[in-house]
Amino acid sequence: MFRTVCRLFPAVLLLIAANLALGQAAGAPPSSAPASPSAAAAPAFDVDAAVEAYLAKMPAAGKARSDAYFEGGYWLILWDTLATIGAMWLLLHLRWSARMRDLAGRITRLRALQTALYWVQFVILASVLTFPLTLYEGYFREHQYGLSNQGFAAWLGDQLLGMAVALVLGAILIVPLFALVRRLETRWWAWGAALMIAFSGFVSLIAPVYIAPLFNHYEILRDPAIREPILKLARANGIPATDVYEFDASRQSNRVSANVSGFANTMRISLNDNLLERCTPAEIEATMGHEIGHYVLNHAYKGLIIFGIVILAGFALLNRGIGLALARWGGAWQVHAVSDVAVLPVAVIVLSAYFFLMTPVINSVTRTMEFEADMYGLNAARQPDGEANVDLMLGEYRKLDPGPIEEFLFFDHPSGRTRITAAMRWKAQYPESASAAEMARPLGR
Ligand SMILES: [Zn+2]
Repeated sequence: MFRTVCRLFPAVLLLIAANLALGQAAGAPPSSAPASPSAAAAPAFDVDAAVEAYLAKMPAAGKARSDAYFEGGYWLILWDTLATIGAMWLLLHLRWSARMRDLAGRITRLRALQTALYWVQFVILASVLTFPLTLYEGYFREHQYGLSNQGFAAWLGDQLLGMAVALVLGAILIVPLFALVRRLETRWWAWGAALMIAFSGFVSLIAPVYIAPLFNHYEILRDPAIREPILKLARANGIPATDVYEFDASRQSNRVSANVSGFANTMRISLNDNLLERCTPAEIEATMGHEIGHYVLNHAYKGLIIFGIVILAGFALLNRGIGLALARWGGAWQVHAVSDVAVLPVAVIVLSAYFFLMTPVINSVTRTMEFEADMYGLNAARQPDGEANVDLMLGEYRKLDPGPIEEFLFFDHPSGRTRITAAMRWKAQYPESASAAEMARPLGR
């Protein structure tokens, strides 16, 4: 839904992703299998065998489909980058960027307004140029893999809404950014990075209250049977939560997920309706333990600091890259200086290439935080079998059992195998936590 913002502002994507998509998920109606818990938790508990038994719950066809979907996503990282760079190159080569700047200059003499008018034209044109890939990736491909619940009109509506959000939020960033560049000239980049980081924090702060509700309906979770154990777990971990939110993710897809979003007093925990429908109480508790982990471990703030460093390095590179590109092609593009708003496509090219190369670094930062939240969740919720079942459900759209290099490069969350191994290792030390009903539960709805 934030695709447009994401394409144009990979850094914003990072922060929104780090903040909003600290996701988890869930399972099927509890099946009857009240086997003896002591049998499952015998002293000679074999962690590896338990992991294999969980992984074997996923049917071969489901695993093949999930692997194909997820592996295709590796290539999409490349195609997205190339499509963005190609679109930006067209804007420069055809001098459309220069024309958009000139048109804005004819409409108003106010510099700030000129920048904003350029931005509006830029977002619309860039969105149109990359639309074929957006359509394939966001609509056809999701339907092909049975992951989307959305008809075309509703999907397109979300895209247009996303573009409107990008127009407004981007203008809030771009106008002061170019004012800064004009004032500081070659020394703009460090302050520009600081502005970018502040902006990312601002977007994360307002997202749960003003942006997410544009796309989904959020309401306070009312069912006391689900709410009370969650609030109890939250209070026990020092979170002064009085409410947990539920949102209608089923409007877009059938994926199970939950998230912690926001900053400071907008921080909240939200569960999606797919998770609530498909999960047992043990699985919901395991998921909440994970989300509470993000909260208690201050991942939102740590993410802002770490990605702040990534942004700072990116802006240093940006400064240098723009200088080199303009010295060589500035005349042909009719783009005069770094303070010229028509330079924006050059900036997007440099940043897209930078964030593409940084993919493994960024993934490793988020994956590490996700693993920390997993460990926190196991200790807080004490539901290793619930956790393993949730990990399997996430395996419906994330490859369950990748190789170690593959996981390092492409996974922004630990793989199902890694997570289930952690859960079974934990369970081996706390055999009393074993749940025979959860172990016997088939994967499904
Ligand atoms: Zn998470």
